[in-house]
Formats: sequence, structure tokens, C-alpha cells
Amino acid sequence: SNQGQAATMVSRFNNRTLVLFPLPFQGHINPMLQLANILYTKGFKIIIIHTDFNSPNQSNYPQFTFRSISDGLSKSKDESLNLETVNNVINFMNKSCIEPFTIFLAKLLEVEHAACLITDSLWPFTQSVADSLKLKRIVLRTSSMACVPVYATFALGEKSYFKTAIKEELALMTENDIEKVYKGGSEKGNKELIYNMIKETKASSGIIFNTFKELEEPALLAISQDFKIPSFPIGPFHKYFPASSSSLLEQDRSSISWLDHQPVSSVVYVSFGSIAQMGEAEFTKMAWGLAYSKQCFLWVVRPGSVSGCEWLESLPKGFMEEVGERGCIVKWAPQQEVLAHKAIGSFWTHNGWNSTLESICEGVPMICSPCSYDQPINARYVTDVWKIGVKVDNKMSREEIGIAIKRAITEKEGEKIRQRSKSLQEKVNQSMQKGGSAYQSLESLVEYILSF
Ligand code: UDP
Repeated sequence: SNQGQAATMVSRFNNRTLVLFPLPFQGHINPMLQLANILYTKGFKIIIIHTDFNSPNQSNYPQFTFRSISDGLSKSKDESLNLETVNNVINFMNKSCIEPFTIFLAKLLEVEHAACLITDSLWPFTQSVADSLKLKRIVLRTSSMACVPVYATFALGEKSYFKTAIKEELALMTENDIEKVYKGGSEKGNKELIYNMIKETKASSGIIFNTFKELEEPALLAISQDFKIPSFPIGPFHKYFPASSSSLLEQDRSSISWLDHQPVSSVVYVSFGSIAQMGEAEFTKMAWGLAYSKQCFLWVVRPGSVSGCEWLESLPKGFMEEVGERGCIVKWAPQQEVLAHKAIGSFWTHNGWNSTLESICEGVPMICSPCSYDQPINARYVTDVWKIGVKVDNKMSREEIGIAIKRAITEKEGEKIRQRSKSLQEKVNQSMQKGGSAYQSLESLVEYILSF
């Protein structure tokens, strides 16, 4: 009836405000702000709550309302708390933000009706806040779908996961991979965070994933068997909106003009993301590996990423002379644009999920050197499941590293890897077209939110 339709329209109109709460790290801010843009174009009004720490660059987003809450980090500086590692900071903020977040949200809801709260999965504390305010919460998982059952298995000892559809892939994980999952910070802190993340995600109303169904079908099946809530693999987000506007560091554009002068598919792009750190010995070995490969390379060395160094002090003597015009080193690059550049032949990566996905979308094969967290899981998928990359680890000699780099980019052995990378790239494109799985999943997400 007309009346019924009018009532539906009114309720839809009222349900157009969304409150988003990103986790303040580069690899989490990027996808949340991209998601905000996607939902904005679907007609939603966006309110973003953010911490003082790593607050996003608001001037790039005049279409959103930003509100900051205190995260307590600056106050804690002189206490004996160990905030050295990312996971400790996240665990700390999951306590220090409870009060300011609750107060802010309660006040907001007095004057504004919101359809739901969308938070990063690593803000587990927000579920009980949402429950207490009778607001639905949807979780954004910024990593691969495969990580969810893997994390649950290893961190919680939930053996039942081994019985799920993901069993075969799980079996690929080695002891070394698992050790690395816990490496970034204290094992206790990591387990606490992962446990809370899984528990409160299960208690939420749905999960949005920055991935697409065709890439991770067994994982999607495993999750749908175990989680009673709907999953929405609507990614890759950066195909809708680039990550460059949410970059916390300035992107050095000279890397693009340098690439313009290199032959097609000749350059190894090297970057280990915004958090990973390495020792001097590892850094030196990387440098020699690049030299031995005899390939052109664009290398992002983030200031502070080599322990005890400001920037390039520990580059081996004579390295730049040895590589000459073949090498370009910058502090931070416009990564998406770099990966899309025709001169790029491969990506030597730490396999952060955003980097992995950005590489897949450009059909660029990977050289995988995961450090910690979800990276060993993503790397395992790249090398052993999708078979679009090779592994390089610190146990290898510089000569072996050089050979592996060269293999991915030029040698005959790497040809299959390069072909598979290209065909996966086509699958992404299909998935995002009208009628494709990511496209449909986004439509269902919008309908789902409007039904609250
Ligand atoms: N990134 C960038 N410039 C760089 C290196 C990385 O813009 O020089 C971006 C990259 O495109 C990605 C994000 O930073 O979107 C890194 O996220 P990822 O999940 O790969 O790794 P993390 O930083 O969380 O370890």
C-alpha cells in the first residue's frame, strides 16, 4: 500500500546516519575511510569518531563529520606502561576509550538517530557499549577472511575449526608461521586481543570484509558455519576510492617520475608497510639481495623502520655506487599508483592485507617476507594457495634472495606465477562489476543496514 511504502521511506530516511570508529593505524584507517566513502555514495550520512592519536586528515573529507575522543595515550606517557608494541597500544586504548566513547555516543544518540555503529574488529570494547545503548554494531575486518578461522584456531585452541572447510589451507601453516603471528608484541597481549576480537565479533550484527568471495571461498564457508551473523565481502575497497587521501605520511611522488623512465615490468617495488621493523642485519641482507638480483628496484625505507637508525645509515658501504641508476629509495610512496605503474614487475612485501590486496588488484606477483600478526597467514595464501608469489626469508643467503627476486620477475619458472597473478586480477574486476559477487554483497549490506 501507499501508506506502507511511505512508512518504509520514513524509516529508511531515519536510518541514514552511520557512526564509524576506525582503529588509528595506517592499515586500518585506510579501509575504514574507504568504506565511509563507499557508504556515503550509497546515501548515508557519515559521522567518524577518532582518537587523538594518529587522527585522520579531516580536510580531505569535507563530506564527513569528525569528532575526536581522548585516548589517554598522552597521559600515560610517564607511567611504566609498556606501549612499545602496537598490540599493547591497542589493548590499552580498548580500556582507556571506554568512558569517553560511551559518553560521546550516548550524547550523540540523544539528538541523532543512527542506523548502526561500524567499528574496526580490534575495538572489541565497543560491542558492550553498543549493547548498552541498544545500537547495532557491524564489524569491519580489515584483514583477509582466512585470518579469522586461523586466529581462532591458534589463539583460542578451538580445535573444531580444523574440521571446517578451511582445513586444507590451515594445514599449510608451519610452526614458524604461527610463531610469527605472535611476534609483534607480547604473546599474552596478542592472545588477549585476538580472543576479545573473535568473541565480540561473534556478538555483533555482521562483518564487513575488505576482500571478495572468489578469493576466499573456503574461509567464507568456514565463517558462515561458525558465526551466526552475515558476512559481507564487498572489497577491494581501494578499487572504489584510493587510500592516498588517508595517508598519515607524505607520499614522495618522485618515485612515479623515476618509474616513468624504467622499462615495462622491470622494477621490483619493495615496501614493508607502516609498522614493520627490522634489525640492521636483516636490512643489510635485503640491500645485498637487491644488488645480487641485478633488477631495478624502488625501495620504501620508512624512517625509523630499521632498529637504531634514523633512515639509511646502515646501508652497506658502496651500495648506492654498486646499484647506481638501478635503484631508487624513498621514505614513503604513493603505493597504489606505484603498483599500477607499467614499469612494476613484482612487489617484495611484508604481506600486510592492504598491500597484498593492492598487489592482487594490479596483477603484480609477490615476493613474500611476512613479519608478524596476520602477515604470515596472508603470505601462506599468496605462495601456497593462490600461487602468485615466492617466499623469501631471513635464513636465505643474499645470493639465494637475489635469485628468488629475479625468478619472480624474469625467469621462465616465474611465468606461471605471473600468469596466475593476471588471471586473479581479472577475477577481481568481474567480482566488482554489476551482478558480480562484491557488487551484490555491497547491495545486500546497504539493504541490511536499512532494515535495522
Ligand atoms: N602505503 C603507502 N605508501 C608506502 C607504503 C604503504 O601509501 O610507501 C600504504 C599501502 O598502500 C597500504 C597501507 O599503506 O594501503 C599499508 O597497509 P598494510 O595493511 O599493507 O600494512 P601495515 O602498514 O598495516 O603493516
